[in-house]
Parts: sequence; C-alpha cells; structure tokens
Amino acid sequence: MKKEDIAVSTAIFRDNLYLLHDPGFDHVECPDRLKVVYDQLDNPDIARQFVFPKAEPAPFEILNLNHSKAHIERIAQTAGRTFDALDQDTTTSAKSYDAACLAVGAVVEGTRMVVEGEVDNCFALVRPPGHHAEHDRAMGFCLFNNVAIAARYAVDRLGLKRVMIIDWDLHHGNGTQNSFADTDEVLYFSTHQFPYYPGTGAIHETGQGKGEGYTVNVPLGAGLGDEHYARIFNGILAPVVRQYKPELILVSAGYDTALNDPLGGMSITKDGFSYMTRKVVELADEVCDGRLLLTLEGGYDLQSLANGVLVGLTEMLGRGTLTEEVLAKLSATDIPFPAFDAALAGAARKWDFS
Ligand code: ZN
Repeated sequence: MKKEDIAVSTAIFRDNLYLLHDPGFDHVECPDRLKVVYDQLDNPDIARQFVFPKAEPAPFEILNLNHSKAHIERIAQTAGRTFDALDQDTTTSAKSYDAACLAVGAVVEGTRMVVEGEVDNCFALVRPPGHHAEHDRAMGFCLFNNVAIAARYAVDRLGLKRVMIIDWDLHHGNGTQNSFADTDEVLYFSTHQFPYYPGTGAIHETGQGKGEGYTVNVPLGAGLGDEHYARIFNGILAPVVRQYKPELILVSAGYDTALNDPLGGMSITKDGFSYMTRKVVELADEVCDGRLLLTLEGGYDLQSLANGVLVGLTEMLGRGTLTEEVLAKLSATDIPFPAFDAALAGAARKWDFS
C-alpha cells in the first residue's frame, strides 16, 4: 500500500524543559532555536496532525549505554549551577542536566515507539543536541549523545541487529562515529562540511575491525546546495541503505547546512530539506517498514531551522508539498562535483554502486 493511502502516525517530542538549557548570553545554540519551532506547532491546524507523547528523563543505566560513569557524573554536577563550562563552546545552566536527561529520554522512547509499531515515525525536537558528545566528554554544544544512546538502546535492549544513523548536520558527528567505529550493528553515514569543526570525518575514516566499511563519510567543501545533496542521497546514501538493510533508521537532523546559517557555508533551501526528508522516508519504507526517527542537532538561522523542521514533518506524514517540477529536477540531478566522486570511490571499497 502506498503511503498516501494510509494514515501515518508521526510522534513529536517537545517539552518546555528543553528551553531552560541556556548556554549563556549570545550563544548560537540558544533556547529560541526550539521556540521558533514550537511556535509553529502551536498552530492547531498543524498540531492536530501529530501525536505528542511525553518522555521521562533517561536514568543512569540508559545514559551509561554510551557514556562513562565519570562523564555522567560530571554532567550531573552542573545541575543547579548557574554556569559551568565543559569546554570553550559547551556551557551549561542550572537546568541543563535535566534537559539533557529528558532529551535522551525522548529519543529513546521515540525509538521504542517506532520499533514496537506504536507510531510510524517520530521527530524528537530536543535540546541540547548530541552528535559531538563522546563516550567520556562533552563537546560542541553537546552533553549526551542522544542518537548514539538511542542506537545502542535499539541494539542492546530491543534486539535489533542493524541500525543506521544518517547524519546530515553541517558538522561531522565525531561522537557518534567513535561510538560505533568497531561494530557492524550500527552503520554511521555522514555528510558534512570539511575540513571544519570538529576535524573528523575524512573519507578514509571507515571504521575498524568488524566495523570496517560501516562508517561512510561524505566530506564536502563549502558552497553546495540542494542539487548536490540530492545527488549524494540518490547516488551514495540510497545504495548503502538498500545493501545494509537497516531495521531502523535514525537521523541526526541538523539544519546548519541552510542558506543563511551563520556557522555553515552550505545553501540548502526549504525544498532541499523537504527532498532529503522525503528520501529517508522512502528508504525507510523500502527497507524497514518506515521505521524512522529524526532528532534535532544543529541549525542556527532561526527561520531556516523552523522551515526545515516543518517541511520535514510534513514529509514524514506523507503530505509533502514539493512540486513535480522540483522533485523531477532534484531526482534527476547528475551535477558533477569532485567531493561526490571522491566519497563514492571511498565507499565503493565496501559497497556496490554499479
Ligand atoms: Zn552542526
């Protein structure tokens, strides 16, 4: 049955506690990022299309699936303190620890709901973001690695054998890559501006041991837009998904690739985000009964972020509004660029693109 023939149930996690994580005056990873997104969801015509489950804060044993005891305790120590600096970019306020535990709780609960079929797909609209957080270290605005914990939970607690993480944030998700470098149970696929913060994500970083080939990096020079990302999604991502056949797809959904983003040099438009989301929805339908969860990572131009999330949610419902013309143009793109050829050649050592 085609998606438009059935009612799709999409869960959204939102909570005002996430707005109380305040990294400090003038920090780009500010509470307004979520506020602009939530404001759109306050429109009753939009809200009634979704379900809004409640999350509980993740307990120690869930955080411990991906993080050391020492790291969890270090973050817990920030609770109640007006300000603490974990590194030069990563700062906390009194409620940051609580927000971070609830962010993990939401992503894990969303994963459980999707895997157990309680909803079709899910978007966790949470802060702080997660993909830079390492096993034993906070960094890059991230305290706990939300998506990595969810993937670990899906494997360890829900018994899945193949989970795929697609990370389309502007930045490379060093923490996520490192968490799964030596396993084939979680495939990490990332597009990112390179060389750029955090410095990782070169083509030759492909995993090790049992995990060799199960890390796929697509490092990109600045200045790329919708057509380039469409070519990567169709030409590299889709074949990898079809061959790996994940039982669940998790997306580190960052919107700092947007045109106008103050941190990024890419130029993705609303149509581009719509198309990228549609592609992962279609791939999830094709290989894993539509099991898909997006979790918010970066995105610092407020309007672009809000637009990108909203068009993505619409795609998740199967009610996308891309015109046939845009869809045809992006689907057919064969725009040449050196980063595509290089990433394809790198991934071709493990995956078949013939
Ligand atoms: Zn980012």
